[in-house]
Amino acid sequence: MSQKPKIKELLVESACEHNQTRKAACNAPTPGATTGGCAFEGAQIALFPYADAAHLVHGPITCLGSSWETRATKTTWPGRDLTQVGFTTDINLNDVVFSGEQKLKDAIDYIMAHYRPEAVFVYATCVTAMIGDDLDQVCKQAAAKHGVPMVPVHAPGFVGSKNLGSRLGGEAALRHLIGTLEPETTTAFDINLIGEYNVTGDMWQYKHLLDELGIRVLATLSGDGRIREIRSAHRARLNVLVCAKSLISLTRKMQEKYGIPSISLSFYGRRDTSKGLLAIAEALGDTDLIRRTRTLIVREEAKLAAQLEPYRAVFAGKKAVLNTGGNKTWSIAAALQDLGIEVVATAVKKATEDDREKARAYLGDTGVLMMNPGAEQARLIDEKGAHLLLAGGRSLYTAIKKGIAFADVNQEKKKSYGGYAGLLNLAEDLKNALENPVFKLAARRAPWEK
Ligand code: SF4
Repeated sequence: MSQKPKIKELLVESACEHNQTRKAACNAPTPGATTGGCAFEGAQIALFPYADAAHLVHGPITCLGSSWETRATKTTWPGRDLTQVGFTTDINLNDVVFSGEQKLKDAIDYIMAHYRPEAVFVYATCVTAMIGDDLDQVCKQAAAKHGVPMVPVHAPGFVGSKNLGSRLGGEAALRHLIGTLEPETTTAFDINLIGEYNVTGDMWQYKHLLDELGIRVLATLSGDGRIREIRSAHRARLNVLVCAKSLISLTRKMQEKYGIPSISLSFYGRRDTSKGLLAIAEALGDTDLIRRTRTLIVREEAKLAAQLEPYRAVFAGKKAVLNTGGNKTWSIAAALQDLGIEVVATAVKKATEDDREKARAYLGDTGVLMMNPGAEQARLIDEKGAHLLLAGGRSLYTAIKKGIAFADVNQEKKKSYGGYAGLLNLAEDLKNALENPVFKLAARRAPWEK
């Protein structure tokens, strides 16, 4: 039986509320869909933070190159961080004609001989999917030979978007890792963090609070993750979907297969961090844990309020335009509001229906949901009198042109904005951006220009 996941099933995910009512499924591939990152890249985003595994790209060298060093996913793995090593079979014309399977087998043998990873993820790409290389068979034989999991990841770029690729990455973990190893111990408060990639250390901003409450993170998919842990993730009491709706298929299937309930939340901003911690405690259903969580929230919020006091005056009356994607369309908006900044517009082009609804709820009736941010953001900065643009690096030029402050909130960001402590980082970065004279200076016209 084929090990390949059914793309169509993932596109009409029943756990997505909007798929109950809409005729058209989410994430259906459209021409040009891969320009915002292909499915292969999405699968890598979901699985790449496993630093104890080798990530082998079975395709031309350009596929590895296009996904190289896109995210600062931090790890405490004490061994060699294998995400810093680019493994690829570097398929060429000869392999296209005569098959690249032998090359793939040799690559796996080489990796096992020189790096001894806990697992090998083998990513299909457009070329190797089209020439029909049998990744399942090669991985099965290699797993038997080397005694570690070999995970075929069937997310070649042409199947669709980055979001769909992340779903396919989750499928690969579900089929080949989860449920293959029993944990040494279990506790009543074991949870999995799903969709938390620990970009710039976001997870570390709140993990110590979970530890303090006695909530154990049994496994993550995949921030600061370990292969051993994700293999035993089926024993968790709760799946916590952190800001990544793309993995909702995985949590639904884990509920059906292992009876693990799930909740979805965000750890950006004061309100959502507090709500998130309380939601976990309530879902675990322990009265004492809920009481202790409430006490911890009161303590942390009081501490944060005191730390944010110096920033209040800086942010008073400030307006921001937010141009990002997915859950960040509303979660970063919530964080900005927690700082006292009015969010006048947020881009929802790359967001799901659920994310759009949440963005609408946070922005209220007056906030604009931008469906075409490339064309709208510059106009809205003028119309709304925005002082700040928060976006990915490509929008920096718009901020410079308009003479307003800019902050990078996409995956290229350098600091963590997660949890209570991350909100403080965001406040400091925005204050620095607002006080930085470079934006106004760069927007100044030359004396001879009108
Ligand atoms: S998988 Fe396909 S779309 Fe993605 S980088 Fe490789 S060739 Fe391009």
